[in-house]
Amino acid sequence: MLFRSTDRTGGWSDEELHRIEEVMPTLALLIEVFEAHRLTTRERLDLVDKAQTDRLTRILNRHGILLEGENRFGPGRPCIACYLDLDGFKGVNDRMGHLFGDRILQATAERIGACLPEGALAGRMGGDEFLVLADAVHTDLPERLRERLSEVHTINDLRFTVPASVGAAICPEVSIEELSRRADLALLTSKRGGKNRASFYAPDTDARHRRSEALARELPFAIARGELRVMVQPIVCFESGRVVRGECLVRWHSPEFGEVPPEEFIPLAEQAGEIALIDRIVMRAAIDLLRRDESAPTRTVPLAVNVSAKEVSLHNLEVDLAAELTASRIDSRQLVIELTETVYLAPGGAAAQRFDRLREQGVSIALDDFGSGFASIACLQWIRFDYVKLDRGLISALPDERTVSIVASILALAHSLKATVVAQGVETHEQQAVLQALGCPFGQGYFFSEPLGLDEWRALLDADAALLAQPPASGTVALA
Ligand code: C2E
Ligand code: CA
Repeated sequence: MLFRSTDRTGGWSDEELHRIEEVMPTLALLIEVFEAHRLTTRERLDLVDKAQTDRLTRILNRHGILLEGENRFGPGRPCIACYLDLDGFKGVNDRMGHLFGDRILQATAERIGACLPEGALAGRMGGDEFLVLADAVHTDLPERLRERLSEVHTINDLRFTVPASVGAAICPEVSIEELSRRADLALLTSKRGGKNRASFYAPDTDARHRRSEALARELPFAIARGELRVMVQPIVCFESGRVVRGECLVRWHSPEFGEVPPEEFIPLAEQAGEIALIDRIVMRAAIDLLRRDESAPTRTVPLAVNVSAKEVSLHNLEVDLAAELTASRIDSRQLVIELTETVYLAPGGAAAQRFDRLREQGVSIALDDFGSGFASIACLQWIRFDYVKLDRGLISALPDERTVSIVASILALAHSLKATVVAQGVETHEQQAVLQALGCPFGQGYFFSEPLGLDEWRALLDADAALLAQPPASGTVALA
């Protein structure tokens, strides 16, 4: 049933009322038109068709797909629902203009259409959200849709990607509306798990969603109560074995939820617009650490902080940072900004100018997670990076032959761009040896050290022999 679930005894829910409000004008208009003109059946069908079609993308609208879905699928014909949402679309729309955004939505609908199996339906639920309904046997559909949508767009000679997160549900016993709600919940799992991924609804999805909601509600209070801490993970020179830099990583120890991993709360903070606040806290902690180390007998090394590309596009990072650096009087060359999720950076001059200004102040810029879906190779064209950090997914695959070739190519690319490569997630001696043999100078990972508390970090720097790397044993490195 489209508007009202049959097992309800109470009044209309807010959501139901909202849906009714949405379609009422269309229905009222149709009845009016039917009555005013003595329309033929064909003309009536055309009008109904129009009322169910999204004007921009020419696929079904929300009303149309839910109605058609109920007609087509049911207990005798189980269905998979895939709920899709473009990652970072709002930013693209804001920066590139609505016409540009419309072109992306049209291209998305076309790409979805090209993936549809026989008998499937596709509809635009509103904004940048789409729903696909297909026979339940097509369990690979969510991943196929995600892959297709993450391909490069070329619009007005600009090449860029707007990846999508996908949530899927297969529950034969529920209505299409409930199925799409469950797919939407699974979509949240994909969003919060780092985006550009596909997740299936599972019985515990509702519980996990409630936990995320509770964490999201708690996070601003946790920030205000000072529950966020910073740890530092050493970055090591393979050749000398010395610690050359540290990366600041945020931690949340909640009295209620225990240790909440950043991969769980950073996406929540991004959604709630609190990420800038968190990055400022970490930045301040880093500056404080550098300031104290400058006056202490420790060997000061530069510190890196993570900044999400989404935030960079929203705030005057370089202005805030300049004020912090001036107030603390630390040498700005001691600070590195690791730019994460560059896939969300829209092409153009604003971001490049922002980073050029930061570099003029002496701050170094690193491109984070290079080799993963979240780092954009395109932004190498318009942003000058001092460091490129290899994604740990690449390192964990070493010494696989193809991965060795990819790492070698990235090293050559970085070299030609005068950027230094840092390998992340080095966990074994063999990985270090292969990287060193390929000419990668620096690395970070559990093989050397896990992220350290601030006291441990200082103790490490205090120890004159802060040697963490080991030279590769000769004859053990086999590069295919
Ligand atoms: P990242 O920037 O790629 O940070 C490296 C992550 O890899 C850290 O996870 C670190 O603990 C982990 N790691 C380091 N060495 C190894 C290894 O050998 N093996 C494995 N399996 N993992 C290793 P962490 O601290 O959980 O952070 C996860 C992500 O959260 C970070 O990924 C970063 O994108 C984000 N993040 C952390 N702190 C901040 C922050 O202050 N601001 C922002 N915007 N993002 C942050
Ligand atoms: Ca990082």
